[in-house]
Order: sequence, then C-alpha cells, then structure tokens
Amino acid sequence: MPAPDANAIIEMIDVHKWFGQFHVLRDINLSVNQKERIVICGPSGSGKSTLIRCINRLEEHQRGQIIVDGVELTNDIKKIETIRREVGMVFQHFNLFPHLTVLENLTLGPIWVKKTPKAEAEETAMNYLERVKIPEQADKYPGQLSGGQQQRVAIARSLCMNPKVMLFDEPTSALDPEMIKEVLDVMIELAETGMTMLVVTHEMGFARTVADRVIFMDGGEIIEQNEPEEFFHNPQSERTKMFLSQIL
Ligand code: ADP
Ligand code: MG
Repeated sequence: MPAPDANAIIEMIDVHKWFGQFHVLRDINLSVNQKERIVICGPSGSGKSTLIRCINRLEEHQRGQIIVDGVELTNDIKKIETIRREVGMVFQHFNLFPHLTVLENLTLGPIWVKKTPKAEAEETAMNYLERVKIPEQADKYPGQLSGGQQQRVAIARSLCMNPKVMLFDEPTSALDPEMIKEVLDVMIELAETGMTMLVVTHEMGFARTVADRVIFMDGGEIIEQNEPEEFFHNPQSERTKMFLSQIL
C-alpha cells in the first residue's frame, strides 16, 4: 500500500465502493495538494459524483483509505464532522434552504455549527455576497433568484464556513447558457485566491484556464490524468479520445 503523502490535503488510497453488487469506484488513487485545482470529467454514470461525495462522507467507501488534512475518514462521527467543516460542497441543483433568505442561508452554518455571533456571521456573509456580486439579493428568498444567482449564493454559503477545500459537482449543468459564465467567473476568481478545488464539470474552457490537472473517469476508474495541455492535445487512452471527441 502506498504511504500517505504529507503534502496532500486529500489522499485517496486504493479506494473501492459498491452500491449493493454494483462496483461503482474501483481502486481510486488520488492525491490532491494544497491549492491544487483539479477538474474531473467522464461519461455520465462513471462515478464522478460518487468519488467527490466520498470525500465528505455523503457516500461511504468500503475499502481503502480517504485522508483529509491528516484525518482519516472512518465511522467516527467526530472525524466526519471535522472533515465536513473543512470541505465545502456545491451541487448541481444549488440545495439552498427555500424558506430562508439568502442572508439566512449564509449565516445558518456559521451560527449553529461554528457558534459565530450573529452580527459577525452577517458581516462575513455580506462580504462573500459582495465577492459573488449579489449583495443586493441578501433579503430575498432563493425562489426569487435566477439559477445563476442561486448558484453564486450556494458558493458564498460554502465559503462562509471558511473551508480548506471546495468540491463542485457539475455546478453549471442545471443553468441556462447565459448564466454559466457568471458562475464560472466566480469559480475562476476563487481559484485565483488559492483555494484547493475539485470540480466535476464538462466545461472544458474552464478546465483549460484553471485546472492544474484534468482527471478522466470511466466505469468507476481513473483512466488517465494530466495537465490540461497534454490531456486535451495528447490523450493516451482510446476511451479518453472517444470522450473528448464527443464533447469538444
Ligand atoms: P456520474 O456522477 O459520473 O454521472 P455517479 O457517481 O452519480 O456518476 O454514479 C455512478 C453509478 O452509480 C451510476 O451507474 C449510478 O446509477 C450508480 N449510483 C449512483 N448513486 C447510487 C445509489 N445511491 N444507489 C445505487 N446506485 C447508484
Ligand atoms: Mg454526477
């Protein structure tokens, strides 16, 4: 078994997962360094969501090790909570609380999980709403916002918890085309701040500009990975070539 890498903030070693009889993740080895930006792509059903959901224990792996910032994920709820505080996640369908205002969505975690005083939580929330360029929406409800605005709220909400790593699961695939750019721009700015990011996306323009590494998955396996230039211009596996020919 390879030794855990001391510089890695996320380490997956020989990870396997099954849904019942179905072997969904097969021998995943992935080490993510601090400040690294990784894009994960691959056909629908290849295990991309399951892989990143294992990192904050939204899914449980059955074999191998997952270590986040030095803490190994086990059934120990204290460790799971520690890791969830450090790992923010943004989903395809935003997952905002519909009955809370934008500001309340942003302050809920800090107030209840981190015990931050309300005034301080609200100040931080407004700072992040400025960063995602919608401070004027603070008192609205999610249903009153466009998809692109809701996704920017979801990103700001994660950032209010001051995570060390951000996971994105197809953050733009539920959006109308004209809203994709406003969300990608926020993600590009976040990358520029040095945030460690794992992004499942088929936005290959984003991968080219932002990613340090692109990972291609198929059938629950990491088939190949490379820096974007090499990945796009010199794919090695037939499966990668086939996938790229379909999406580019
Ligand atoms: P991707 O994100 O690459 O589209 P997923 O990780 O969502 O792929 O899913 C990988 C495979 O696992 C798919 O075949 C999917 O149907 C299956 N799967 C996902 N979640 C579950 C679940 N909760 N129970 C059973 N099978 C699942
Ligand atoms: Mg998915």
